[in-house]
Amino acid sequence: MKQAQFILYNQLRESYLQEDIDCFLYVHHIWKIIFQGKELKLNTKSKILDYAGGKDFVDELKKNGNTAEFVISKDFFHALEAFTKKHDIEKWLVVKPVEDYVYKNILKLSQKLKKVGIEMSIVPDTESFFLSHEDFQKQYKKPPIMEYFYRFMRKKENILMTADWEPEWGEWNYDKENRKFDKKHEKIWDFSLKKTAFLEEAWDYYDTDISSWIFPINRQTSLDLLEYFLEKHIDRFWVLEDAMYQDDPYVHHSLLSTAINFWFLSPREVVERIAKTDTAMNNKEGFIRQILWWREYMYHFFQFYKESIYEENFLDHQRKLPDFFWTDASTTSMNCLQTTLRQVQTENFSHHIQRLMIIGNYALLANLNPHELNKWFFEYYVDAFEWVVTPNVLGMSQFADGWKLATKPYVASANYINKMSDYCKNCKYNPKEKYTEDACPFNYLYWNFVHDNKSTFEKWRQQFVVRNLEKIDREKIQELKKAFLK
Ligand SMILES: Cc1cc2nc3c(=O)[nH]c(=O)nc-3n(C[C@H](O)[C@H](O)[C@H](O)COP(=O)(O)OP(=O)(O)OC[C@H]3O[C@@H](n4cnc5c(N)ncnc54)[C@H](O)[C@@H]3O)c2cc1C
Ligand code: SF4
Repeated sequence: MKQAQFILYNQLRESYLQEDIDCFLYVHHIWKIIFQGKELKLNTKSKILDYAGGKDFVDELKKNGNTAEFVISKDFFHALEAFTKKHDIEKWLVVKPVEDYVYKNILKLSQKLKKVGIEMSIVPDTESFFLSHEDFQKQYKKPPIMEYFYRFMRKKENILMTADWEPEWGEWNYDKENRKFDKKHEKIWDFSLKKTAFLEEAWDYYDTDISSWIFPINRQTSLDLLEYFLEKHIDRFWVLEDAMYQDDPYVHHSLLSTAINFWFLSPREVVERIAKTDTAMNNKEGFIRQILWWREYMYHFFQFYKESIYEENFLDHQRKLPDFFWTDASTTSMNCLQTTLRQVQTENFSHHIQRLMIIGNYALLANLNPHELNKWFFEYYVDAFEWVVTPNVLGMSQFADGWKLATKPYVASANYINKMSDYCKNCKYNPKEKYTEDACPFNYLYWNFVHDNKSTFEKWRQQFVVRNLEKIDREKIQELKKAFLK
């Protein structure tokens, strides 16, 4: 029996290949993507990655003596039907996609193929996460407290554990040792990615000039980036993890999310490589935690709540995203927001604290609709995939799921941004003022938010925040908010 494997965009690594396969097909899909009933206008960098990554992988397969094709098509069905006829295929295999809406499309595709006599089996994905969701469900009835999950994963994977099953160096985590802002920090990010012919071909196809391309487009460039990060950045990663600099968008972050989310690199190999690296324990543990805890937890959390999460808007925030999210960011005078949004609009990337404490913080305080924000993140970020963007935006950042993911809302006044960045010194607003004309909007928006959610703050055991409301001129901050959001 002649078998073919249909390879999907985030299965671009040898270990996704199944046994006894005669031919492989990769389809670069160029038609509308429908997400939650609306068209998803994906950024061009994601499309280029899909094109260049797929073509590169098919080329590798061919070089290794396999029959493999890269096809550009408006729909999977016709691409698979044509390939079936051309290569006389009797059976198709596809590894179950990680993304839920893609999985639903693959189910529809297999039914459609069945109607014309073509069989397609969906095989389980054993590669993408440390723990399959079935195994997660065997362990937990519902997503547990995150710290317990992390400890479970460290033990299960035997990562940074002693022979007596205690955490190496005695602590499970070194969270308190980050959150510094170093005024003397100097930008050293200078990774130069080896461009491939396929990347150039994809640029031409999308008629775009991306001279400063930074994201890995195949396995080799992903391994290069990982080694570059370990050589140049990991020693300062943890201490400056939350710091933000006007002229250094990446600080000491790895920029590996895209490579890992397209699965050019497996999360396990990244964690094992970091564990072997010669660096201080806080850097090692801090980085491993991001993947073994946050990334893994987000996936299982989303699997658990995927049916209900899009229905929820706990704080009932309904305001539309301002135009400057979509068009020219310079129409907002808030320097932190303008700098971050401009970066996202040009590079389709920003680091974690910019996502959480600039964009997310602003959206929450300005009562923006969390679902519209989620779609915006999905469309704009090059590392965005449903299983990771949705829990991060709706759960962690916007609290739309109410209590399920975050144990406290990630909101802050200008004080935090001023402490953790150099944005405020280039801003027309004053981070220290609450009531004046040049008062930073984060200040009065924050105190309005605390007022409006007093009881929730109390439930979050943040009575000390609520107590400070007594010192706030309620009428004035309301008036300022109204004028600012008009
Ligand atoms: C509102 C919001 C939206 C986000 N959207 C995405 C998204 O679409 N895709 C995405 O991969 N991450 C997302 N994140 C998580 C995180 O911001 C990015 O993974 C990180 O900024 C990517 O940059 P990096 O590779 O340099 O990360 P580093 O700081 O170098 O961290 C290392 C790795 O840890 C993992 N990681 C860290 N935090 C998280 C997290 N909260 N969830 C999942 N993985 C994590 C990533 O794989 C990342 O590459 C989001 C966070 C927030 C607050
Ligand atoms: S003053 Fe306010 S708006 Fe301006 S950069 Fe600082 S926090 Fe952002």
